[in-house]
Amino acid sequence: MNSVRENITRIKDRISEAAGRAGRNPAAVRLMAVTKTVEDDRIQAAIEAGITLMGENYVQEAKRKIELMGKDVQWHMIGHLQSNKAKYAVRLFDMIHSVDSLDLARELDRRSREAGRVIDVLLEVNLSGEESKSGCSPDEAFNLAVGCSGFPNLALKGLMTMPPWCEDPEAARPYFRKLCELKERINGKKLPGIALNELSMGMSGDYEVAVSEGATIIRIGTAIFGPRR
Ligand SMILES: *Cc1c(COP(=O)(O)O)cnc(C)c1O
Repeated sequence: MNSVRENITRIKDRISEAAGRAGRNPAAVRLMAVTKTVEDDRIQAAIEAGITLMGENYVQEAKRKIELMGKDVQWHMIGHLQSNKAKYAVRLFDMIHSVDSLDLARELDRRSREAGRVIDVLLEVNLSGEESKSGCSPDEAFNLAVGCSGFPNLALKGLMTMPPWCEDPEAARPYFRKLCELKERINGKKLPGIALNELSMGMSGDYEVAVSEGATIIRIGTAIFGPRR
């Protein structure tokens, strides 16, 4: 198995190449290491290899890891978030990628106010309509963006999606393109205080396609750390 460091180097090279081919600046793409179920020493190795952005799916697991590894790196919540965990989430994370209901947005706003902060959030959009996936519909994303513009302690920064799993990375391209178009349509509404710049999309199997379609954050687990147990 390749070392974490070698994997990261290879992925960064591929991001640069994919960005170059698309006429994008590679510096506009942030590489997130997704750390669910990964052993602490391997996460540490990723930090030593220069990763500055971590993604976690579970509040409990994140709490332990953040206490251990510190806040020199950024931690983003990418998993489904229940409203009753919002209180902890706003204290632990720098950004939450998985806002998919007005109730959750409202609760995050309230808990952020209590914590004396403004939290960056993304709307998670389910573009395939798969029942098993979390995320709101594209129509709901409009309503949520309107809602968020009225929540002073939420800073809505962009959109996140997870296309249906497929062997062929090209199968994800239409979903990435739709997410980018949705971002532009929401920006076109000129909602007060809302300017979406972030597109969180692309995982181990399809990140080069995501970069070519405008991803600003790619979320990589397996390609950095190897298969999850
Ligand atoms: C696990 C996970 C990833 C990383 O998936 P890999 O295929 O291992 O790169 C990205 N995003 C989310 C939301 C995840 O849960």
